[in-house]
Amino acid sequence: CGIIGCIGRGSQTLDTLVHGLSKLEYRGYDSAGVALGGTELSVSKTAGEVADLREKLNGQNLRGGAGIAHTRWSTHGPPTDENAHPHTDCADSVTVVHNGIIENYQSLRDQLVSDGHTFTSDTDTEVVPHLIETYLSAGENPADAFRAAINDIQGSYAIAALIDGANGLFAARNDSPLVVGLGDGADFNTEGGVFYLASDVPAFRDFTDEVVYLEDGEFVRFDRGIQVTDRSGTVVDKDVHTIDWDA
Ligand code: GLU
Repeated sequence: CGIIGCIGRGSQTLDTLVHGLSKLEYRGYDSAGVALGGTELSVSKTAGEVADLREKLNGQNLRGGAGIAHTRWSTHGPPTDENAHPHTDCADSVTVVHNGIIENYQSLRDQLVSDGHTFTSDTDTEVVPHLIETYLSAGENPADAFRAAINDIQGSYAIAALIDGANGLFAARNDSPLVVGLGDGADFNTEGGVFYLASDVPAFRDFTDEVVYLEDGEFVRFDRGIQVTDRSGTVVDKDVHTIDWDA
């Protein structure tokens, strides 16, 4: 139901993500979760409220400069800890958050299961990390594996993923909103800035008013700055908008 992502500096990322989730609470949700990518991926998620997630995080030590977080409004599978996002692949090398509905998930899931993948949730979403894993195992680089997996799914989605071995994060949208926020030092194709990603601007409005709106069928990759492409991987030029809060 709500997504926030952040590429930050050091320990700010987790705080930024949890703050963003609390700003998205007004949309309604039944579960919440967060994943950070550093030397390895770590995930924390729970049925219940952002306050419950905060409590769970107190006992854990999640670290990493890139992260994704989610509030879930269940469409496929009841609100349980297992069905909360982020979802991961078998090797714990990919983790994904998703808003929307993947219409063709059942046939993809059947194929993945017959290929030997083990699923741990009832969600439509979980096919995505397993698809990315399949393309990575076939030798694709993370950006191409992400794009190939997204091109396999049909339906409505805003999706963000962390992939082990790749800096930054990957995201795409179709029929579900997703917007990029440019923080400190952020620019296209420039390393080192602070970036935000969200289903809804309030998630990061306390940090920046510079945004890039993504269109249906667009992909964004955050590693050396941001890069927006279409479904075929061709770079798309994007305008930066400054939000006028008083308008
Ligand atoms: N269809 C997904 C699920 O049931 C995502 C729901 C959402 O948008 O929060 O987990």
